[in-house]
Amino acid sequence: MATAASSKKTKVKAMPKKSLQHFEKRLLEERKRVLKELGHYDETFGSTPQGADGDLSAYSFHMADQGTDAMEREKAFLFASQEGRFLWHIDEALRRLYRNPEQFGKCHNCGKDISFERLDALPHARYCIECKQREEDGKRQA
Ligand SMILES: [Zn+2]
Repeated sequence: MATAASSKKTKVKAMPKKSLQHFEKRLLEERKRVLKELGHYDETFGSTPQGADGDLSAYSFHMADQGTDAMEREKAFLFASQEGRFLWHIDEALRRLYRNPEQFGKCHNCGKDISFERLDALPHARYCIECKQREEDGKRQA
């Protein structure tokens, strides 16, 4: 029996730029929505050029520019609420998208592409549906 090992290797291929832009937009939309819910809409957060299509790469994270301490504090604050946790995950996803676009949309566990449908519904998803399912099954049994 011949082995299929050679064809098993997963190729790292970035998703098309168009898709990245789509998810960037989705993430920024979600972010805006959560921020409103949090009542935490400060100047820095609100500086996204509204309606100005395209130039979103100019969008900067105030958190990323501060030290780790500030980030940890922000994280502690955010993790105190469900919306805050959600916001944190969105920010993390945006950071991934800007810094490692070729890794965006890849499952953090198995490295496979997360399906477009899943990412569209959950743009901050880090795991593919199989890995997520497995994680949740594990939790239920724990
Ligand atoms: Zn996976």
